[in-house]
Amino acid sequence: MRDYQICTNCVMDISDTKIVFDEKGVCDHCNDFHENVKPNWHTDETGKKQLATIVNKIKEDGKGRDFDCIMGMSGGADSSYMLHLVVKEFGLRPLVFHVDGGWNSELAVKNIEVMVDALGLDLYTEVINWEEMKDFQLALFKSGLPGIDLAQDHAFVATLYNFADKYKIGYILNGGNISTECVRNPLEFFYYGTDMALINDIISRYCTTKMEQYPFSSIFRHKFYLHYIKKIQMVKPLNYMPYIKADAMNFLKETYGWQPYPQKHFESRFTRFFEGYWLPQKFGFDTRRVQYSSLILTNQMSREEAIEKLKIPVMDENTIRNEFEYIATKLGITVDELKGYFDAPNKSHKDYKNQEWMFNLGAKVMRLLGREKSIKR
Ligand SMILES: [Zn+2]
Repeated sequence: MRDYQICTNCVMDISDTKIVFDEKGVCDHCNDFHENVKPNWHTDETGKKQLATIVNKIKEDGKGRDFDCIMGMSGGADSSYMLHLVVKEFGLRPLVFHVDGGWNSELAVKNIEVMVDALGLDLYTEVINWEEMKDFQLALFKSGLPGIDLAQDHAFVATLYNFADKYKIGYILNGGNISTECVRNPLEFFYYGTDMALINDIISRYCTTKMEQYPFSSIFRHKFYLHYIKKIQMVKPLNYMPYIKADAMNFLKETYGWQPYPQKHFESRFTRFFEGYWLPQKFGFDTRRVQYSSLILTNQMSREEAIEKLKIPVMDENTIRNEFEYIATKLGITVDELKGYFDAPNKSHKDYKNQEWMFNLGAKVMRLLGREKSIKR
């Protein structure tokens, strides 16, 4: 067992088991940010010019088509703010889609509605076959893997590429950003959601229904075929401008009547259970460490404030009881069965078939090409 240690600059600690500290007690997330990410991150005039060039190219390529780009909408702050920018500031014509995996919070539904209505857009909703979704999520509980949110994540990615392919859209706009996400979730808890070897292994061992309608997409298909052959490109507009989360949320509130969530990713009730309870209590990892550390590195939160906030558990006893009951009932199992999965041994993707070597190789190539700056581990 390792002695307890927490970064002297952010709030990442040894619950991220592969974390490395330098002689000053600063972690590798912080050092990677200062060495590799920050020098290449331009939110000033340079970024503005780069983004203007990209936007013009998107418009040019989209002439004569129904849509010039595609973006997913979860109802979260980042995607909502990006939708505003894309339509109002850039004058683009996005196909806006939402994946309904059965776990939308009422607030998320409302937030998506107010944005889409105010901007006069059509929303393409992909409803995932609930029986298959339920079976896949139960399979993930049975697997003992930390990444029980994979069923929702994978459906989202697959739907995105299916729409882009179907409507011949060349640009994907992504709300992902350095400003609030520069510290990455460790792979041990957030393993690649598009590893089809792992997904097929889990399904063949634990699923009871045939997954006939659930959308799949392999990394090979979307990173290679759609990217290099079909030339579909991913753009992250929020990286080319100052993006302050609190300001963005206030703006959305005042302009659209959008309502904030208690925590990032809590627009889905399942994700709230996963990140707010399952992962911290079963696997000892609190995703707030990653979120707060990103905000510390980009000067949006002080380390002291983050430490104070981390002392309070995300969910109180009462909420936990309610959520356990809600999740179990919705999945068609008893609370005791769900508790049984909680108490079962923790597993890792290494306990199953996987293609991690391929993902690692891909990540190395991306870094060599300069396409990826931060280290994912
Ligand atoms: Zn750090």
